[in-house]
Amino acid sequence: MERLIITVAPTGSLPRKEQNPHVPITPSEIAECALRCEDAGASILHVHVRDQDQASSDNPALFGEVVDLLAGRSELIIQISTGGRAGSTLESRKFRLVVPCEMASLTTGSVNFPRSAYVNPPELVEGLAREMQERGVKPEMEIFDVSMITNAIALRDMGLAQAPLHFDFVLGLKGAQPALLSHLAHLANLIPDGSTWTVAGVGPAQLSMGIHAVLMGGHVRVGLEDNLYYRKGELASNEMLVERVARLSRELGREVATPDQARALLNLSLRKRT
Ligand code: ZN
Repeated sequence: MERLIITVAPTGSLPRKEQNPHVPITPSEIAECALRCEDAGASILHVHVRDQDQASSDNPALFGEVVDLLAGRSELIIQISTGGRAGSTLESRKFRLVVPCEMASLTTGSVNFPRSAYVNPPELVEGLAREMQERGVKPEMEIFDVSMITNAIALRDMGLAQAPLHFDFVLGLKGAQPALLSHLAHLANLIPDGSTWTVAGVGPAQLSMGIHAVLMGGHVRVGLEDNLYYRKGELASNEMLVERVARLSRELGREVATPDQARALLNLSLRKRT
């Protein structure tokens, strides 16, 4: 089986230090945490940034600081979040892509959470896809339900995304799809041949969904963005979560990809950041 690509999502837009002191908030905390996660086996860094009050931020200067702090010290693939759960606009979400990166997340539809709607209308999704296409950034299609796979394929058919596509199945968020093996298998069966996929299980499902993905030939995302605990009652750090999935994957006979091996598996053009 091909090597396992581990993405770390260390920060996200929501968790705060009060909930888990290991959540990296400042650019230097994020960069130092990323280096520890790279040592533990991560090959992709999914980046969100925060302002001084720990609130989610769109400020490209903060994203740029993370990238600059890693330059020359890390081989990690930088994946900028274009998520808008903090309520930001198309323009501000697009503006984050001025930061040099090889990948960016792209949610291809809308979803209701228990107390809010995460709205991604077609013109916004297409605008972000076009921006990524023009900048040579590979989208990671964030899939909260089946229809978002259809929407991602439609982007490819419109020439706004290039095959092979890469998907991230988000499972276990209230309001979206439950974290069940049957759902994961269904999603993996629906994507076009030659695509790659990873899974982001939320909360305790991070471990179970990740191990299913290891066995199924998918890839895995871990990190405090999606899950604050190592096990019930014990807070995790990002590197603990990366280390665990890397160790279990090797135990199950599947080696872990280096960043350059991940670039090859994802058909990134091996353009290194300068
Ligand atoms: Zn994210």
